[in-house]
Amino acid sequence: MKYNGESKPVTHIPYGHQCIDDADIAALVDAARSDWLTRGPKSEEFESALCEYTGAKYAVVVSSGTAALHIACLCAGVGAGDEVITTPMTFVASANSIMYCGARPVFADVLEDTVNIDPDEIKKRVSKSTKAIIPVHYAGHPAELDAIKGIADRSGLIVIEDAAHALGATYKGSAIGSCKYSDMTVFSFHPVKHITTGEGGAITTNREDLYKKLVMLRNHGITKDQDAMGSCDGPWCYEQQLLGFNYHLTDFQCALGISQLKKLDQFVKRRREIAAAYDEAFASSDEIVLPVEKAWVGASRHLYFLRLRAPSCRCDLFNRMRSSGVGVQVHYIPVHLQPYYRKRFGHVAGDYPIAEKYYTETMTIPLHPSMTQHEIEHVIQTTKRHLRSPYC
Ligand SMILES: *Cc1c(COP(=O)(O)O)cnc(C)c1O
Repeated sequence: MKYNGESKPVTHIPYGHQCIDDADIAALVDAARSDWLTRGPKSEEFESALCEYTGAKYAVVVSSGTAALHIACLCAGVGAGDEVITTPMTFVASANSIMYCGARPVFADVLEDTVNIDPDEIKKRVSKSTKAIIPVHYAGHPAELDAIKGIADRSGLIVIEDAAHALGATYKGSAIGSCKYSDMTVFSFHPVKHITTGEGGAITTNREDLYKKLVMLRNHGITKDQDAMGSCDGPWCYEQQLLGFNYHLTDFQCALGISQLKKLDQFVKRRREIAAAYDEAFASSDEIVLPVEKAWVGASRHLYFLRLRAPSCRCDLFNRMRSSGVGVQVHYIPVHLQPYYRKRFGHVAGDYPIAEKYYTETMTIPLHPSMTQHEIEHVIQTTKRHLRSPYC
């Protein structure tokens, strides 16, 4: 039995949705009956499973992808007066995490085809104050990690991959999360992402120093490691050495995560099949440009976006699609154009033309493994119908 609304008529197909089965529910129930409701043994088990999947040495699970980005930035040494380069075409959390550390997000425009951060634009923005680079694997297509690592190595910068869209993706044969080209990789387990724990996130890394600090920052900045502590009054000893947070992921969420991770490859396979069906269905359309997948990546297909050749028609198409039960969305309003960032840093329209142009053209259609064949067909037929009719 599926809890994905399969019994519902096709009235509204969301752009993203979790895929929870009986095994997931059983794992949750078991965990709820155990002695641990907050952090417990499932947390380490989930971390080991993430290490095994990604090939990274260490994983730290936390309460959200945003929390993961926050402590990853802190571990990178990001603080007041620093700059961190990221993309404007992302969810606001990528930039907000930089602000949490008192630093300044410096945006670099995206590449026209993959919509990922452009390494040449990064180069132009590296300054004496730059501390780190946060590329986002937009829609599940890995960013230009080789080039980004090259820039970071030359200037002594930390690379934090925001892989909220890219669990299950590969770059030049390595799993995203392996940190082959970065210092840390951040994942989100929000329900629209590839696997879910409700709220939840993780950081993977191969560096022991970063791992130890991440673990402390997740737990108020506290350590119980004898070797890391000074003098000790007794066996109850613990030391707060940093200003950390309560960013634990609960044990029942970890139990769900472990169960979900076992299905990740199936989920990604299904996403790729649905995306391929869309590619095929829309290949002959004159109205849209299809998403690309470079030869050296395996995209995890988090979002499927229609890119309209006539952007002035987007609003009309959006409304028509919604009225036909297709839960379209727009990912994303460029972050620098959000009122907070405009006011704070004086950004104006025109600052990042490629991201802004993409924003005017794009619309996300439903893509998630719990879609039924009937729903996929409905999305294809509805899209084709509205694209064909003069829609504005
Ligand atoms: C979802 C998302 C996040 C935030 O993850 P949460 O788990 O919702 O906090 C960060 N960056 C990107 C690109 C995302 O899509």
